[in-house]
This record gives sequence, structure tokens and C-alpha cells, in this order.
Amino acid sequence: MPSPTTPAPITAPLPTRSPTPRELRNVIGGEFVDGVGTFEKIDPVDGTLVAVVHEAGPREVDRAVAAARAALEGPWGRMPVAERARLLRRVADVVERRSEELVAAEVGDTGKPETLARDLDVARAAANFRSFADTASAAGLDSYLTELPDGRRALNYAVRAPLGVVAVIVPWNLPLLLLTWKLAPALASGNTVVVKPSEETPSSATLLAEILAEAGIPDGVVNVVHGFGPGSAGEHLTTHPGIDGVTFTGESSTGSAIMRAVAPRVRPVSFELGGKNPAIVFADADLDAAIAGLARSTYLNTGQVCLCTERIYVERAVFDDIANGLAAHARRLRLGRPEDPATTTGPLISAAHRDKVLSYYDLAIREGAELLAGGGVPTLGDGLDAGSWIEPTLWTGLDNANRTVREEIFGPAAVVIPFDTEEEAIALANDTDYGLAAVTWTTDLARGHRVAQRLRVGMSWVNTWYLRDLRSPFGGVGLSGIGREGGLHSLAFYTEPTNVCVQL
Ligand code: NAD
Repeated sequence: MPSPTTPAPITAPLPTRSPTPRELRNVIGGEFVDGVGTFEKIDPVDGTLVAVVHEAGPREVDRAVAAARAALEGPWGRMPVAERARLLRRVADVVERRSEELVAAEVGDTGKPETLARDLDVARAAANFRSFADTASAAGLDSYLTELPDGRRALNYAVRAPLGVVAVIVPWNLPLLLLTWKLAPALASGNTVVVKPSEETPSSATLLAEILAEAGIPDGVVNVVHGFGPGSAGEHLTTHPGIDGVTFTGESSTGSAIMRAVAPRVRPVSFELGGKNPAIVFADADLDAAIAGLARSTYLNTGQVCLCTERIYVERAVFDDIANGLAAHARRLRLGRPEDPATTTGPLISAAHRDKVLSYYDLAIREGAELLAGGGVPTLGDGLDAGSWIEPTLWTGLDNANRTVREEIFGPAAVVIPFDTEEEAIALANDTDYGLAAVTWTTDLARGHRVAQRLRVGMSWVNTWYLRDLRSPFGGVGLSGIGREGGLHSLAFYTEPTNVCVQL
């Protein structure tokens, strides 16, 4: 990567959507580095080859951690917060200027509609950098005066140092959004990082490395290693003695594996994991708004958002209205090419993930579900049938005892279940090992607050979904995670406070 003052020359092929597959390398200490071998990234839209990716082995991971350590000990480690914040705002500007390249990278890897990549993923990436530039600049010292009974007085304050070299491991569903959600506060707090993007979405992280260099982030502050989890870059990174902490978003079982990997060296972790998120619809809800909101929370990004609704509890008096209204909505969704503005719904990320989601479509029927919409694989023609397409689906006839209602599917599918009382709705919603997000639909404001507060989740929305203020805490309880990120919550994870006590 170039020095902060010169624009980055394009030293690697741009990972934009193109008929020619791209070659993506690891980014270590500002250089594009070959791996121990390569793997293929397949386009979920039509099954063609998107990119050949260099897989990092132990040696490349070691080099990346060493580059991050060296950068931490260099000028970056002594840079005042205001200067770091200024650089992060520049990153946001370059993200916006190069947004169409990022959209193309994200769409090429995931197959999501271009409009979604533009309005959600890339827009949030820029917002993430700006938000944490502001938060870090505003964060002050904690200080207080201690007065003891014997008359002694002491000034206590805490200084916050960066955590150090942070491993950032992210999934494929909102690759750029989730990466920048962790990267921005890590950098704002003065850390250096080694990023391991998902093997399914290597492109936007590689392009972002180039953008960071263009904005003036010094070499080695952000390193990118490509590969898989067990036996590959993910495991090499989490077992590396040189990392000071891990921030991870992904499956709950992977979170367990990472905890085990860091346990011998007792490193802090921040985990944003899976969900089996409930929605509760009361009979007093604005039904049209609830149906539109449920359609969004169930089917956005083909159901591949950790916050997506998979269990919908509906007060019996309006059960048919909601179930039929949502099923009609599911049937109206338009599956198609990402560049078609009429497309609402892309494919699943991969053939393997489709097999997993389809196994739940089979299981639901074996468990006695009644199909209200979808349930299978569509035939789209237009050269798309080698892609990982699946129908948006809705079931009824199941209850909390069924695996379909207990396990995370991570696809465009939900179960509608009736309830009779508020207490019952809360009990059903809380009857889960997860605890990420919930939505309550009601026009009774007191009830909205009452129910929202009793749901055991990290985020409890009322009459909306996925409306985010980036300063508010984000995370989950139970199998859904450890810790919270967002605003000062992020800065708490990415820094280590030292209490200084001075007797006066
Ligand atoms: P995943 O856990 O399979 O993979 C996530 C990342 O971890 C990838 O980069 C992967 O290569 C890496 N990895 C896998 N095994 C590893 C190991 N043993 N050691 C180190 N790294 C390893 O998850 P996914 O399939 O990519 O993503 C989907 C999951 O992510 C769903 O469960 C979803 O709910 C969850 N998710 C949660 C949030 C949240 O904020 N709570 C947000 C998005 C997605």
C-alpha cells in the first residue's frame, strides 16, 4: 500500500462483478501476498466462478499478526484520537466515492439485489466509520474524587489504551457492513487488526483494504487473511499467541470453537452470534403495518440477517389476517438478477447453505407443518438455475416443541403460531436458547414497553425492525452472543482501562 499522501495504485485486480474471475490475495503489511493454495468463490446467482482466492496458511497469518504488532508499535500507536478520527472520516468519504465498486464486489459474492447492497451494506459501511470517529472523539476520561473516613483524599481516573492486535472474524451475510461495524471502533480506539472475512465473501474486504490505504491508514494497521475456519486461516488466527482479543460475528457453534481456541491464553472476546428471533403481533396492532414489517423482517436479504424473524406469534383473533397477508406477500416477492431493479430477493449464499435450508423445509413438513407459501426450489430459467435459489416460505401448524421452531434456519422462512394472552406470548417468545432480537406489534404503547422489556433479547423493537442508532447497544444473550457493541459499548471492548489512583 502507498504512503498516506499518495493515492493507491491498483496493485491487484479489482474484485468487481465481471465475466472474468478475479484473483484475490491476502493483504499483509500493505502488500498483496500469495497463500499456501487457492480456493474458488462461486457466484450464487448462476453457479459461475467469481474469484480465485489465495488461502492464508500459518505462515501468512503469522506475518499478518507481526505486521499488525509492528504497526501498533509505530506511529499509529502514538497517533492522537482526533487524527485517527480524521482518517476514519476520510475512509467514509472514499467508501462513498468508490461505492459502486463496493456494491459490485458485494453483489458479485452474495447475489443480493444491487439496491440492497447500495442502500444497506455500503451506506452503513460509510456510516460505521463516521459514527465511531464521532464516538471516539467524544469519549472522555472516567474520573472521581475518593474521600476516606481518615481524611485522606485521592484522585482516581482511568486511562484507556487500545486492546492491541485484534482478530476480526466476520460472516458472509452482510460482509462489508459487519466488517466495518467492528473495524471502525477498533481503529477509532487505536488498535491494529487482522481481518478474516468469510470464505464466501472475500471481495469487499480486499477492496476495503485498498480504500483504507487510499484514505491514509498506515500499512499494517489493517491486514486481511483469506481462508476457512477449522484447519485454515480462522483457526490459525484464533490460536495465534500474538493476538490480544477476538471480535467475531457468526454461528453460535463457531463462537464456542473460538472460545475454546483462545481459552488457554484467556483473551477477551466479543461475540455476535445466531438467533431464532420472535415477533409478537397483538390484535390491536395496525395489521397492514405489521404485515409489511413482518415481510421485511422475515425475508430481507433472503432471510440471511441475524435479526430476521423466524417465529411469529399472533393473537388468535387476527391470526388468519396476519398469516394470509404475510403468505400473499411472500408469494409476491420477485426473485431475479441483482441488477434488475424489480428484484426483491436474491439467492442463498451457496449451494451448501441451500441444502441446509432445504433440509428444514423437509423437516417442517415431516413435523406436520401446513405450507402457506413457498416450500421448495423455484425454476427461474434465464440461465439462473445453477444458482442457489429458494422460495420464500411460510408455515403454520407447528409449535415450540418442533425443531423447525427451535433451530436457526437462516433462510427466508418463518412459522406462524397463535396465542391467547400477553403472558403466553411472552413465555412463548422467551422459550428459546437464543436471545438476539424481537419485534412487538401493538398500538397500545404501555403494552409495547411492557412486553419489549420482558423479552430476553439484546434488541427489542416495537412497531419497527432493524431501525438502528449506532450508539445503542447491539448484541445478544444466551446462544446469541457475549458482550455488546455500538457507541461507547464498542469502545469498552476495544480498549483496556488502567485505573490511576493518586493520593492528594
Ligand atoms: P460461521 O460461524 O460459519 O462463519 C463466520 C466466520 O467464522 C467465517 O469467516 C468463517 O470462516 C469463520 N470460522 C468458522 N469456523 C471457525 C473456527 N473454528 N475458527 C475461526 N474462525 C472460524 O457463520 P456464517 O455461516 O458465515 O454466518 C451465518 C451465521 O452468522 C448465522 O448463525 C447468523 O445468525 C450469524 N450472524 C450473527 C450476527 C449478529 O450480529 N448476531 C450477524 C450476522 C450473522
